[in-house]
Amino acid sequence: MSQFWSQLVHTLTPYIPGEQPKVDNLIKLNTNENPYPPSPKALQAIRDETGECLKLYPDPNAEVLKQAIADYYHVEPNQVFVGNGSDEVLAHAFQALLKQDKPLLFPDITYSFYPVYCGLYEIEYQTIPLTDTFEIDIKDYSVDCGAIIFPNPNAPTGRLLPLNAIEKLLQNHVNSLILVDEAYIDFGGETAISLVNRYPNLLVTQTLSKSRSLAGIRVGLAIGQAPLIEALERVKNSFNSYPLGRLAIYGAKASFEDQAYFVSSCQKIITTREELITTLQQLGFLVIPSAANFIFATHPNFPAEQLASALREQSIIVRYFNKPRIDQYLRITIGTDVENKILCDVLAKIVSMP
Ligand SMILES: *Cc1c(COP(=O)(O)O)cnc(C)c1O
Repeated sequence: MSQFWSQLVHTLTPYIPGEQPKVDNLIKLNTNENPYPPSPKALQAIRDETGECLKLYPDPNAEVLKQAIADYYHVEPNQVFVGNGSDEVLAHAFQALLKQDKPLLFPDITYSFYPVYCGLYEIEYQTIPLTDTFEIDIKDYSVDCGAIIFPNPNAPTGRLLPLNAIEKLLQNHVNSLILVDEAYIDFGGETAISLVNRYPNLLVTQTLSKSRSLAGIRVGLAIGQAPLIEALERVKNSFNSYPLGRLAIYGAKASFEDQAYFVSSCQKIITTREELITTLQQLGFLVIPSAANFIFATHPNFPAEQLASALREQSIIVRYFNKPRIDQYLRITIGTDVENKILCDVLAKIVSMP
C-alpha cells in the first residue's frame, strides 16, 4: 500500500490467472490452452509480418481481420469488434454495456474475472446460483436487472446451455443486454451468433486463445448489432488506438481462413475429452458433462486438493479452485492423446492407493 494509490486501487482484488510455470517437461493442463500448435497458415502469416513493416503502427481498426471474421460468421464488418484477447473485449463490454443502474447478473460459479471487472468499473452485481447439477436455469434469471453475462459453455464447469434456452432468455429480457462469453463454444456447442440479427440485446464474445491455439497473440472478438459494437469502439478508442499488433491481426485472419485445420484440431480434442471422461468414470470420478476443452471432476474418496498435489508431484498440473461449492473438483484441460494417456495412468495409480 502506498499514499500515492488512488482510492479505487485500494479496493481492487485482481484476477489471478493459472500458473505459467518456468520449468519444462510439465504436462500443463491448468489454463485451457490448446495442446496442438496454431494453423501453419497462421504461423506463416505471422512470420510474414516480421519485417520492416513493424516500424509502422498497425491498422487501428484491424479491418482485414474484421472482414475475415464477418465473412466467417456471415455478418457485416460493423457488427464485429476485436480486442487484445477476449479479456480486453469483456473489459470494454463491462464498461460500455454492462454497467447500468440495476445490478448485473451472473452465475455464482463462473469465470472469476467477472467480479473483478465489476470492481474495476464499480458495477453492482448479483450472483444467481447454478442448480445442484451445475446448470444455468433461465427461470432463476427472472430478476429485475441491468444486464446478464455468462460463459457458454460455462467455466469452470464445462456445461452447455442450449441455444433455445438462450433465445428464451433474450425474449424474457428485451430491455437488458445479454452477453454470452463463448470462449469454449467450438468444442461442441452451437454459437449464438446466429441470433444476433434478431436480438438487439445480444452480444457474443469469442477468443482465439483456446480453439485456435493462439493464446500467445492475444486476440478476442465480439459480435452484435452495430450500435453495440459502436459502444465498444467508443471505449476502445478512448483507451488504446492499437490494441492489436500486426502479428495478431494477420495471424488471426489466417486462422479464420484455415477452416480445415481448425475443424480437425477441435475434433481431436473432443475425441480425447470423451476418452478421458470414460476413463475417469471407470476410476470412480464423477464428471460433469462438458462441451469445452476441459472437464470438471470430483472423486468421492479423494479430496480434490490432495489429488491436485499428487498430480503435481508427477509433473502434471491441473486447476484447483479453493472456493465454496467447487472445492472438491478439479478442472482438467484436455491435452494431446499422449498427455491424456499419462494423466490417466498417473490418476489410476493415485486412486488405487489405499
Ligand atoms: C479464457 C477465457 C477468456 C479469455 O480469453 P482471452 O481471449 O485469452 O483473454 C474469457 N472468458 C472465458 C470464460 C475464458 O475461459
